[in-house]
Amino acid sequence: MKSLYVKFVAITIGIMIFSSIFAFLISNTYYQQKLKPYNDQKITKIAQSIAMFTDEHPHMNLKEYLEHISAIGYQIYLVDNAGEESFFGAAFRDKSLSVSMKEYVLNGNTYHGILHFPQKTFVTGFFANELKNTIGVPLTYNGKNYALFLRPDIKLLFNEMHFLFGWLLAFTIILSIVMVVFSTKYLVKPISKLTTATKSLSNGDFNVELDITRHDELGELSHSFLRMARKLEQMDDIRKEFISNISHDIQSPLSNIKGYTNLLENESISLEERGQYVSIINDEIRRLSTLTKQLLLLASLDRNDDMMKKKPFNVGQQIKELIRNYQWLLSEKGIMLSYSLPDTEMIGDPSLLNTVWDNLLTNAIKYNKPDGTIEILLEVKGESIVVTFKDTGIGLNHTEIERIFDRFYRADTARTRTIEGTGLGLSIVWTIIKLHDGHINVNSKEKEGTTFIVELPVN
Ligand code: ADP
Repeated sequence: MKSLYVKFVAITIGIMIFSSIFAFLISNTYYQQKLKPYNDQKITKIAQSIAMFTDEHPHMNLKEYLEHISAIGYQIYLVDNAGEESFFGAAFRDKSLSVSMKEYVLNGNTYHGILHFPQKTFVTGFFANELKNTIGVPLTYNGKNYALFLRPDIKLLFNEMHFLFGWLLAFTIILSIVMVVFSTKYLVKPISKLTTATKSLSNGDFNVELDITRHDELGELSHSFLRMARKLEQMDDIRKEFISNISHDIQSPLSNIKGYTNLLENESISLEERGQYVSIINDEIRRLSTLTKQLLLLASLDRNDDMMKKKPFNVGQQIKELIRNYQWLLSEKGIMLSYSLPDTEMIGDPSLLNTVWDNLLTNAIKYNKPDGTIEILLEVKGESIVVTFKDTGIGLNHTEIERIFDRFYRADTARTRTIEGTGLGLSIVWTIIKLHDGHINVNSKEKEGTTFIVELPVN
């Protein structure tokens, strides 16, 4: 596997090479299109002024004069009618030039070799040290005709600049590579850290540390990663607690049942005791049955919401019917129940919502004070229906309110110990209401009472 680091460095260097080639091609084209004519004109003027000077000074030494000019920074080729030729200044790399060209200049014309130097993709004509790449002008000296070919001696004129640009380029390249190598390390390091963290997470170690304090996308990613790790840890804890709760809640009725069946095996116990034990065993079996029913319901609610069978029904009537079923329990406990339940149609799963009202009502009864009251209200507010269950029971404190919808949570066991329950009822309520896109709120004051407010969309 090629590491991200190697790839990144290779790609960056590749980009650098590509862009330098591209930049060279563009500047070469620029020279060919725009600069070459200027250059040609400039050199032509210089050549012409040399020719003019020799014409006006017939008594000077031509060769000496041209020697001087070449020393300033020009490469010169001189030829006469007889074909006698001489060179001044640095030698041309390529001395070929057609005879017809020489004759063309000897006949009094100007040769624009710089302008017409052939365009080549990777050769900038400016640097080509060739006799063809010159300006040719006619020159008369002492009544004799010559052809003078001339180009600037790039090496002499620009040698230092060459070095300067050479070093500039070399340093730019070297520094860029070094910087890319280091900056890539800086970029890639958090990714390696994240990979290590992911590995330890997949090995079940949720306690990952990530010291990535950056404000870019990688910082964001590591924040999200840490959040995810915490969430996973929480979920793992909840799962473990859930299993241990279930095991405990199943184990304790089972051992009770076992204890009492053992006692029943003793033939010397009275009929009265026997009846008592059987009734305890029955209670425990009922508890187990409730627990497994609730667990099955929660599991199916968790799996998906396909199990919902939504249809229009009358909630007001549904709750009134439920109250009727609990009338005996209410009078047994001496609890006064009042309600305002107008006929109201809504769309939802009637059987699941019945479970909601059932849980809220049995809780209001179970956790009420003797001679307490319960008030149930149904109101339509815009597109929602609001159902309120208000009791004058034992109430809940702040920390308890935060947890009552957690699975298996039962507030202050000392108080609820004598009251039968599994701690699953309200989590079922919460899940069903969420599946209906509704929500539930709790207001409660210790020793004074609790109010549950359920809000559900009508449709
Ligand atoms: P349980 O089976 O214990 O009733 P629930 O999930 O229905 O489980 O309720 C969770 C806990 O919330 C209860 O154990 C109880 O402590 C508290 N609770 C629920 N309803 C009320 C209420 N109306 N008044 C006071 N406490 C309540």
